Amino acid sequence: MVTRLASKSQQLYEKAKELIPGGVNSPVRSYPPYPLFLNSAHGCKFRTVDDEEYLDYCMAYGALLDGHAYPETVRAVKMAVENGTVFGQPTEQEVLLAKLISDLVPSIQMVRLVNSGTEATMHALRLARGFTGKSKILKFEGGFHGSHDGVLVNAGSGASALSCPDSQGIPQETAKNTLVARYNDEDHTKRILRDNEGEVASVILEPVMGNMGPILPEPGFLEGLREITEEESIVLIFDEVITGFRLALGGAQEYYGVKPDLTVLGKVLGGGLPLSAFGGKREIMEKLAPLGEVYQAGTYSGNPVSVAAGLATLESLRTRAGQVYPSLESTGKILRSRIAQSADSYGLDVQVNGVGSMFQVFFTNKPVVDYQSAKTSNPDLYRKFFQSLLRSHVFVPPSQFETCFLSTSHTAEQIEDSLAAIGTAFRATIE
Ligand code: PMP
Repeated sequence: MVTRLASKSQQLYEKAKELIPGGVNSPVRSYPPYPLFLNSAHGCKFRTVDDEEYLDYCMAYGALLDGHAYPETVRAVKMAVENGTVFGQPTEQEVLLAKLISDLVPSIQMVRLVNSGTEATMHALRLARGFTGKSKILKFEGGFHGSHDGVLVNAGSGASALSCPDSQGIPQETAKNTLVARYNDEDHTKRILRDNEGEVASVILEPVMGNMGPILPEPGFLEGLREITEEESIVLIFDEVITGFRLALGGAQEYYGVKPDLTVLGKVLGGGLPLSAFGGKREIMEKLAPLGEVYQAGTYSGNPVSVAAGLATLESLRTRAGQVYPSLESTGKILRSRIAQSADSYGLDVQVNGVGSMFQVFFTNKPVVDYQSAKTSNPDLYRKFFQSLLRSHVFVPPSQFETCFLSTSHTAEQIEDSLAAIGTAFRATIE
């Protein structure tokens, strides 16, 4: 009898499970039979501890627009590290980055740098409450804004995939201040705002939902939200942690031409290092301490290494924007239509959603326009699809409720190879 030796990933997973809950430091990284453990990554490929190479369409959940270990970013990080990794005091580079962000993102006049998307949405929401003096917030079903108390209500991403959209451990007194509306349903949103008139501090949304797979705003939806929030003096927050610097240099607000009051940025901003930001109208941002009485602080905020990575990433993207965004847009469009054709050739009912460099496949015959329609997708078929792609050494997010990402490092040839793997994966769902 031949005994199959456990791979190094499998062995590490066994050890990790003893020490780290579920063996992973973020639940979305968990999938059966065990997650791959990585050694390195360059461009659109990563290598595992078993020295196997995979083509990556997860791109650290959208953090890497230019691929892994982008040379300009790596150079900037190396130089920054040599000069000290944290000061707890201001630097010139923070000012340069703040200027660059406010130049690129249409609605941002002032900005504060923090470390993660979770932190940034948490502070943006506190600021909106402090500014308006109101307590309630409204989010959308399936929208994900990080893992702090007020937004883990009807949340997408891993929270939905792992059946805890409403996390335990959140006091009822907190959850009751979070109202939930249906994405792309302006009437429903208006009704909820009317029922809570004078009590809502903020409407927060991902302008393109990325945490149910990509779901696009229907024409007029963002404009409608802008109108009603303006009328009711509610702070409109665009959570552009995924879409910022990805859909366009100025994010979804540039792409769709709608300006929020506050914007949350993360992922692409840091070029692969922990860096996020929230910013917007001067009169709101000036409510933050030390100018105002909304408190927010952080030892690692504006960390010099992350800031160096952010500056290098944004400066490089600004130089190449005329080529990068149209090219991602057209490659994304072709890829989505080829995936749809491939599914069709196997007689499968699928929806291929996406915009720009974002895409996902839903195994359903219903157009996916909100949380409920996303939930009609067959999870077993997605699992088979994911596992088959993994066997072909193509990595997409293990959960249906995530987005796949193209980067500038994916070549036409690699995309062609992936389409063959996607065809095989579609076949695997009907076998
Ligand atoms: N907002 C959105 C739209 C996100 O997609 C995410 C993470 N996937 C977050 C906030 C939280 O960001 P982080 O993981 O950096 O805390």
